[in-house]
Amino acid sequence: MKTEVAVVDETEIDMEIIKRAGDILKEGGLVAFPTETVYGLGGDALNRESSKKIYAAKGRPSDNPLIVHIADMDMLGPIVEMIPEMAEKLAARYWPGPLTMILKKSEKVPLETTGGLDTVAVRMPKHNTALALIRAAGGYIAAPSANTSGKPSPTQARFVKEDMDGRIEMILDGGAVGIGLESTIVDLTEGKPMILRPGYITKEMLEETLKIPVALDRTILQADTGKAPKAPGMKYRHYAPKGTLTIVAGEEQKVIQAINERAEQMRKKGEKVGVIGTAETAALYRADSVKSAGNRQKEETVAKELYRILREFDDEDVTVIYSEAFENTGFGQAIMNRLLKAAGHRVEYAGETFIQRNEDEMQHDIRIKMP
Ligand code: AMP
Ligand code: MG
Repeated sequence: MKTEVAVVDETEIDMEIIKRAGDILKEGGLVAFPTETVYGLGGDALNRESSKKIYAAKGRPSDNPLIVHIADMDMLGPIVEMIPEMAEKLAARYWPGPLTMILKKSEKVPLETTGGLDTVAVRMPKHNTALALIRAAGGYIAAPSANTSGKPSPTQARFVKEDMDGRIEMILDGGAVGIGLESTIVDLTEGKPMILRPGYITKEMLEETLKIPVALDRTILQADTGKAPKAPGMKYRHYAPKGTLTIVAGEEQKVIQAINERAEQMRKKGEKVGVIGTAETAALYRADSVKSAGNRQKEETVAKELYRILREFDDEDVTVIYSEAFENTGFGQAIMNRLLKAAGHRVEYAGETFIQRNEDEMQHDIRIKMP
């Protein structure tokens, strides 16, 4: 299959391109498109054959449900059993935006789209190209991130092409995305709302709107709670770079020293070492490839660069990676969640003496101590 790449601009929608892409979706084909979070791999959400194609193109396990994207509030009713009051409040406040809600599904949504579950994940993205495409496709696009399963989500169209060239009909290239991490997922199907995946919309923001406590799935920041995460996708080793990634936490100067020592040891053993630092620290590292994830004071910059950096280390054949830890609150929680998963929860603490924690201890204590 030849994959067409069309450059689009969300400030000036080219209806001819959008219509062509919409027709591909209506006919059961696949189109990757930009959203404000990451690039999505879209298919008609109400067509079971399209959903099967999405799993095949990504190499994604079929028990890992897809998020259904809508463009108008009117489109929500038909795909859910009912719209709870909490969903109305959150939609009014955060849609269009980087928030996905889990609701009870209606008959209309095929089980292929929901990975066999009787619930459906729904989001209205805040991106004009995505919204125009959803409308052109008939109202419902199922779209997981447009990466091969297990790779970091694509934040630019060139990464989508790397993974999906020849596997899908079309890629809409809208440039680099705004946020760079996937949407927050909140489950509204049980009495108490629960965050299944942290994102740009934080627990505090949800609580402010709902005026009730919002729980956090315990599996989000812990290595192994012995419990299955409630979002099936969170159990897979996502966002994994080829190199072995270790997060080093602790006081800043000690982290720099510890990472430099480890990098030197590893390079002597013949490893190619990459380091993820920040604008404040990058110049102080000695390794084969040092990358700055942006400004520590501005979490938005770190979120935006993280997946690009992980992919670039792969391209450079880096075999060992060390990363600084990031603040574990607010939006930082989403960054640490993705970084911890990429690292397979390998965290070391730089202290007076350099302690290497074993897996067993880490299961019970992955709290990140910050400078
Ligand atoms: P992605 O689209 O690649 O960001 O992945 C979608 C995420 O949403 C995965 O982690 C899924 O497990 C999760 N998800 C989708 N639908 C549901 C659902 N009905 N219940 C719980 N989690 C869901
Ligand atoms: Mg994904």
